[in-house]
Amino acid sequence: MKFIDVHTHLHDRRIVDGIPGIIKRAQGAGLKKMVSCATMEENFRATYDLAEEYESVLPCFGVHPWFLDTLSRDWERNLGAWLEKVPSGVGETGLDFMGRGADRDLQIEVFTAHLALARDLDRPINIHIRKAWDVFIHILKAHGPLGAGGLVHSYSGSADLAKVLERYNLYISFSGSVTRHNAKKTIRALNAVDLDRILFETDTPDIFPTLDDGNDYAGRLNEPLFVPEIVRIAADRRGIGFEKLAGHGYINGLNLFKPLI
Ligand SMILES: [Zn+2]
Repeated sequence: MKFIDVHTHLHDRRIVDGIPGIIKRAQGAGLKKMVSCATMEENFRATYDLAEEYESVLPCFGVHPWFLDTLSRDWERNLGAWLEKVPSGVGETGLDFMGRGADRDLQIEVFTAHLALARDLDRPINIHIRKAWDVFIHILKAHGPLGAGGLVHSYSGSADLAKVLERYNLYISFSGSVTRHNAKKTIRALNAVDLDRILFETDTPDIFPTLDDGNDYAGRLNEPLFVPEIVRIAADRRGIGFEKLAGHGYINGLNLFKPLI
């Protein structure tokens, strides 16, 4: 079986020294590609370097809504230059109204600028949305379907909304949150998403999955190695075969990130 992890942060300080082992373990588990998202201008270079060094790493460049206080005056031009220089996706970008994000108007302005870059350069986009669904849909309605597509990472919205997002050429990505014992809303969404729109991710090094396999993972950081386990549990919860769901996730990921490969 083959897998793709569509959302990681391999540049993260907590894991960057262990990257050779992380890549090796991932490849041993069937991971063919890992999409690694920058989160601010400061880590664009580290994200680029990882993609240069490892063929299996596909880079995305963007500024996460948690880190808008790091924006340089020239951030839009800087981001555009990296995107043009490197075959890459846009992100991580998005809207987070849960409290950790910046001023909402600034978030909307910055996210809209990322969408415009993705449209102009014809690139897929890696999107973070928390408690901002109404505003997100409003922006999508004004923008129209995404030409090169995109994904909503670690999906936390409703099943109904997932069906709406599919119409805008968005994929729905499930993380370790789908493995939680109380993940009722996420499981409903997992069951509603079209199999041609479903993706899987770890959000490495965060969102460590709940694995009831008898091992003690206390304090362990997440890594792409765990994608197969996330897919296996998701398949169980959707009531379809592991191999079948893995196949859909892999092909969908390749289709979306084709321009980067
Ligand atoms: Zn992320």
